[in-house]
Amino acid sequence: MCKHGDTVPVFTIHNRKTVPVDRCIADEIAELNRRGVETLGCCCSHFNAGKIVEYSNGFGRWKEHTPPPSALIDEKSVDLAKELGYVPFPYYYADGEYRGVWQMQLKTGDITNRQRNISAEIKQREDVE
Ligand SMILES: [Zn+2]
Ligand SMILES: [Zn+2]
Repeated sequence: MCKHGDTVPVFTIHNRKTVPVDRCIADEIAELNRRGVETLGCCCSHFNAGKIVEYSNGFGRWKEHTPPPSALIDEKSVDLAKELGYVPFPYYYADGEYRGVWQMQLKTGDITNRQRNISAEIKQREDVE
């Protein structure tokens, strides 16, 4: 379980800063940095992966799917991330500009409540049979 604000301080090699990271992905972000991948930001999605979010900013009103647990990385870490089994792709800002940032799905993190609920339901059904 990992709500907004449930974070762990993690040392990141980008600017050598310690930043708050969502608890359920903190170990993975720490490991990526230990191995030399420059993470620039990350979020575990807080059980909202796949859900539609609506928001507006200076560029307009937007509707999009919430990504699964993911991280932004510096473009110079792309090859290393691929070696570690990740599938990074370029990150474009809302104005359509590319600024040397890539994104990738993480391997850990609580994807969604729903999966958990489904597992519980299956277990219940098995218990009855
Ligand atoms: Zn989380
Ligand atoms: Zn988050």
